[in-house]
This record gives sequence, structure tokens and C-alpha cells, in this order.
Amino acid sequence: MAAEAAEEVDVLIVGGGGAGLRAAIAVAETEPGATVAILSKVYPMRSHTVSAEGGAAAVIGLADSLDEHAYDTISGGDWLCDQDAVEAFVREAPRELIRLEHWGCPWSREPDGRVAVRPFGGMKQLRTWYAADKTGFHLLHTLFQTSLKHTEIKRFDEWYATRLVTDGERVHGVTAIDIRTGRIDTIAARAVILATGGCGQVFPFTTNAAIKTGDGMALAYRAGAPLKDMEFIQYHPTGLPFTGILITEAARAEGGWLINKDGYRYLQDYDLGVPTDTPKLRSMELGPRDRLSQAFVHEMRRGRTVETPYGQVTYLDLRHLGEAKINARIPFVRELCLSYEKLDPVTDLIPVRPVVHYMMGGVHTGVAGETPVRGLYAAGETACVSINGANRLGSNSLPECLVFGARAGAAAARYAVQAAAPDQQAVRAQGADERRRLERERDGRDGGRERISEVRALMRRTLEESAGIYRDRDSLEKAAGTLADLRERAAVARLEDRSAAFNTELLAGLELGSMLDVAETIVASALNREESRGAHQRTDFPARDDAAFLAHTLAHRGPDGTPRLSLLPVTITRWPPGERVYGR
Ligand SMILES: Cc1cc2nc3c(=O)[nH]c(=O)nc-3n(C[C@H](O)[C@H](O)[C@H](O)COP(=O)(O)OP(=O)(O)OC[C@H]3O[C@@H](n4cnc5c(N)ncnc54)[C@H](O)[C@@H]3O)c2cc1C
Repeated sequence: MAAEAAEEVDVLIVGGGGAGLRAAIAVAETEPGATVAILSKVYPMRSHTVSAEGGAAAVIGLADSLDEHAYDTISGGDWLCDQDAVEAFVREAPRELIRLEHWGCPWSREPDGRVAVRPFGGMKQLRTWYAADKTGFHLLHTLFQTSLKHTEIKRFDEWYATRLVTDGERVHGVTAIDIRTGRIDTIAARAVILATGGCGQVFPFTTNAAIKTGDGMALAYRAGAPLKDMEFIQYHPTGLPFTGILITEAARAEGGWLINKDGYRYLQDYDLGVPTDTPKLRSMELGPRDRLSQAFVHEMRRGRTVETPYGQVTYLDLRHLGEAKINARIPFVRELCLSYEKLDPVTDLIPVRPVVHYMMGGVHTGVAGETPVRGLYAAGETACVSINGANRLGSNSLPECLVFGARAGAAAARYAVQAAAPDQQAVRAQGADERRRLERERDGRDGGRERISEVRALMRRTLEESAGIYRDRDSLEKAAGTLADLRERAAVARLEDRSAAFNTELLAGLELGSMLDVAETIVASALNREESRGAHQRTDFPARDDAAFLAHTLAHRGPDGTPRLSLLPVTITRWPPGERVYGR
């Protein structure tokens, strides 16, 4: 692991998914003379954005309005969204999706040539644009090929960022491992944008790719930027039981039913806050994700779910849609079921269960993606701006990556061209520190008793049991104790691989460190919020409490490494808090 002189760029983006690529293009367009680089632990096209299926929401057509999209988002988020951010989001989302069309994104069409839209959970109007059920693939591909046209965008593919270089007030760059060679290097930068995605991997069952380990959240947290609203974790009601692979909400938007072991559409027994009188838009299966996941737990308690080797399931029934519609509208669902469950949705029921899908929380930012650390920005799932509040509506996060990726890119570019050059001395000194730490990690831990995977599995189980769909004080307090113990065990867990090239064991150890940081903030934030709101359901505090908790949770890393919490008021512009209903 040799030391190298620091590279230097104006703006460094960590993450090559939807938010990162969009940010890079925005930097190049805003300040054509600026130098910009994307550093990503996987090749950009392998980012999790590629797996998004259902679609991207933005107002289109005369029946809809920006205010309605804003209202659906805010009420869906149980009034925890910052309304200035939501207003910017709904205004800019249509422009972003049209821009993508001009860059080559093949949006699905109606027979008359107009862009096709499908219903989506919690959205009162048809506003979810899609490209069959491979929306994320086409979106990411479009962004990637557009980024290639900007030859000034440099790439560090398969580089793993391990630390932000800061002086306590502003950012000066990052340290990173070149995964292919094992070299530990520093890249100095005037501005850094974190676009590292979510952290579903802290839970045992998740739709999230293995790379979604909350690294960016941990990087920011350790550098002094707080994490916001980490207690809000979205379960998606329809994941495949063993793999956690997502069966997109589009399957229910196209008319799929959820049934229990008796073949009964059980959602009719629950209050979903959704009128079911206009079935095209609001079938009960298109209720909000948190309520559907909660209904599953009640079905399980009533003994109306089906036991499988991988836990309890209910069924998604698509058989009545017929083969032609399934092939035309949701071909990928059929492909996934055939490949991973050996069943055909044309003739068979699909076993499903709620799985962790999305983090509403993340790095605390303002509407330009700026964090409290000067020069440090965040966008996409790793950020919390916050448009998702206590519960994200499906199909809002792809446009969020575009709108706030673009905003963060533009803001970082403008900041970088007037900012002082990064402090090379700090970059070198912190780079040397980090190199020593990583070499110790890699070479000095073969005597450990436990494997990283064992500690990781315990962390995941702890989170599922304590901070899952329902929480209470006792289980959360117990989890906080367990996590403290796991942190000590993780620090001495065994690392046997000493090779330099593609040392995935070392990376797994570093990712576990990120996940433990994130897990601690989730548990501490959930413990502190003594109310139930959106995806955060406390059985010991079942009601929403606006008097005490119409506020964001901020988690700062304290001097002893544990979270210090405070509350930040929610920004309300035009929609005073009301009951959470979907039909006004
Ligand atoms: C299966 C699935 C389906 C979904 N479907 C939809 C949908 O239909 N509509 C919708 O709106 N949303 C959907 N979502 C949510 C949405 O896709 C994501 O929130 C969004 O794509 C996140 O994009 P991102 O750019 O923030 O991060 P990602 O696409 O996850 O990219 C993260 C990037 O960060 C890099 N990275 C991470 N850590 C490091 C590190 N330490 N060093 C260097 N690089 C790092 C990775 O290499 C990667 O390039 C879905 C999510 C999943 C999991």
C-alpha cells in the first residue's frame, strides 16, 4: 500500500448512481471550466438506481397540478416533510423528466404517443412516468451516457471512500482505497458531494443491493454533519421472502391483489387512509407502504399468514391480469418470479412479505444539498432534504435524485470556483493517518474470534427485532446495549485476507463500521421519538403528537462516538398539519 501524491479536483462526487451522475452533469454545465470527478465503489451502472422498476413521479397533463403532487407528498409523509423542499421538488421534477427524455430516456408511451403514466401508492393522480418496469435501468443508462459526453468528468471506478478530510469546519477531500490494487490514496477537493445511496443492509431482509451500507451517512456523521430523521425506515410490502427481491408496486398498480392464506383480500379489514371508491387510482392495494406493511403484521398475529422456511408470507395475486398484460406492463416481475421463485405469476400466487426498502432519513441538508460542514453536500437517498418526511411515496425518489442531484451539483460548482484551494497539508496528514489505520485493519486482525459476517448478522437481527415495523422503549433500549457490545466485537473481528487486490473482507469490515454508526442513530432516534408517525410506530406511544414532535430528529456524533440528539422544527409553507388522508 504505497503513498501517492494527492490528486486534486474542484468537485468530487462520491457515488455514481442517479444522484451522483446527475450532480456531475450539473457541475459540468454550471461551471464548464471546473474539474469534476466521480468516485464509486462499483462501476456506475451497477449502482442501486439500476434496479428501480416502478417509475418516477412528476406532474404531467391538465388533470394534475403541482399543488396536488405537493399535498400528496406532504400528507403521505405525515407532515414531517419540509414544505419549501417539496415545493421545489414538484416544480422541478417535470423539467427533469423531460430533460431525461431529451437525453434519450425511452419513457413508455400511450398509443397516441403521449408519455404514459401509471397510478402509484398514495398518489391521487396518475403521475408516475415509467419505462416498462425497468425505469431505473433506463434512467441510469441515460444519465451515464450523457455523463460520457462531458469528457471533463473524471472517474474513479471501483474506489471505496473511507474518510472525509476536514479541518472541523470545511471539507478538503477524501481518502479512498483503489479496490483493484489496494492502494490507499487521497483526492483533494474544494467541494465533495455525497451521493452514496441508502443503508437497507443494516436489516436482514431488504430489497437493497449489497452495496447499500450507509457509507456516506457514516462519512458525514464522523465529519460532524448530523444525520436527520433516521428513525424512519420504509418497509415495502411486497418483497420475495428469501432474497428480499422487490416485486414492484407497479404490479399492484396494474391491478394485483394481496390475499391471505384463505384467499381473502385482507386489506379491506384495515384503515389505510385510502378511499377505495375510485378503484383505478386508489385500490386498497395502493394504500401507503407503511400501512400495508403494518396490516401484514396484524394478519400474522391473527394467524392468517402462511408459514414458509423463510418466515411468514401472504400472497400477491396477478393471475387475473392475464399473460398479455403481465408481459406488456410488468415483464420483469415475471422474469424475477421465474428466476428466483421458480413460479409463473400468470398461473401461480407469489409469496411476499414486507422488506426494508428505503431510508427516509439521511445526511441533514438544505434545499441546495448543502450540509453544515462547508463544502460538503449530499443528494439522493443518502441525504435528507427532506421531501419524504415520515414515509416516502413510491416513485418520488428517482425524481428526488434528479432534482436534488442537479441542485447539489450546481451549488457545489458555484461554491468550488470561489472557494480557497484545499489544504494539501491536511489532506496529506489525514491521508497518512488513514493509511496507517487501514493497514492495521488489514494486517493485524487475523487472531480475532468472530467473523465479520457473524457480527453483521447479529446487528441485522437486533435492528429487525427492535426497530422494525413496530417498536417500543424496552426493545429499543435493549438494542442500544446490544449495538454497543457489537461495536466492540466488530473492532476485533477476524480479518484473514491480507491481499491487496480486491480485498472484499477488508471492505466488508469497513462497511460494517458504517452500518453500526447508522444503526446506532436509527435506534437512538427511534427511542427519542415518543409518538407514532408514518413509518415510525411505537406501540407504547400509538398517537401522533404534533405538540412535541412536529420536528426533525438530528443525530450528531458525540465525543464518545455515540449519537447526541436534538430536534429541528419542520418548515411549513402552505399546508398546515392535518389528518393523514389521501382523498381530500
Ligand atoms: C429494488 C428497488 C426498486 C426501487 N424502485 C423505485 C422506483 O420505482 N421509483 C423510485 O422513485 N424509487 C425506487 N427505488 C428507490 C430509488 O431507486 C433509490 O432511492 C435511488 O435510486 C437511490 O439513488 P442514489 O443515487 O441516491 O444511490 P444509488 O443508486 O444507491 O448509488 C449509490 C452510489 O454510491 C456509491 N458508493 C456508496 N458507498 C461508497 C463508498 N464508500 N465509496 C465510493 N462509492 C460509494 C455506489 O458505488 C453507488 O454508485 C427503488 C429502490 C430499490 C432498492
